[in-house]
Amino acid sequence: MEVDPALWFLMSRRRRVPRFEADLPVTDTVGHLIRTLGIPPTEVGRLTLDGRAVGLAARPTGRDGGEGEPVLTVASRERPQPTRRRPPRFLLDVHLGSLARRLRILGIDTAYETGAEDAHLVERAIREERVLLTKDRGLLHRTALPEGALVRGDTVDEQLNDVLDRFAPPLAPSTLCPLCGAALAPVSTQDIAGELPGHTRAHVVDFSRCTGCGHVYWRGAHFRRLDAVIAAALRQVGTGIISGADRSPKEP
Ligand SMILES: [Zn+2]
Repeated sequence: MEVDPALWFLMSRRRRVPRFEADLPVTDTVGHLIRTLGIPPTEVGRLTLDGRAVGLAARPTGRDGGEGEPVLTVASRERPQPTRRRPPRFLLDVHLGSLARRLRILGIDTAYETGAEDAHLVERAIREERVLLTKDRGLLHRTALPEGALVRGDTVDEQLNDVLDRFAPPLAPSTLCPLCGAALAPVSTQDIAGELPGHTRAHVVDFSRCTGCGHVYWRGAHFRRLDAVIAAALRQVGTGIISGADRSPKEP
């Protein structure tokens, strides 16, 4: 077997070499071989057997009249990765709450649930055509899951960088609620006067309210940090911006 070095971190150390013997039963499918190595099928791109493109269901039987085992090559998933829906929508598992807020701040449709069972996450990802993002390899081994990704990185900055690089989603900063992911709509100062502290009412003119949870946002003390996050994401994704809203939500 020859596995793309970009996937070596998922495999045992002795297999982190350019070519190795898989020594696995030829009755197994390619998909099973790959899972046995520790690689979730969602992380795999082009597969070939002796140079011929194959799918996960192929079986690497012996060569016709040839010697030795056929050579299976495993490429990492291409970047940017195409998705069924464009722009892509995401569903994040319970451990990625900080990443969920960042993606929403950038205007990327992001669902996030705490306390959801694995089976529920997979079912929702299928029903809503969302890409399931997780740090849990076991979740991605579920065969029913059509689209998922193992998020690389331990910090939220690294994780955001990985998702933007992998899916290149179009950005629409400051259009979604970081708390619940619903759309933000502008509101006038009069409409929300009773909900604001006095100093905010006097100094801020630019307000929006979440159409989902009702939370009110304005340019608060965090906006410089959020602006830096948004600017870095725009540089990374390039011209994929949908709308140039100039408000930054106050991060919860
Ligand atoms: Zn909300």
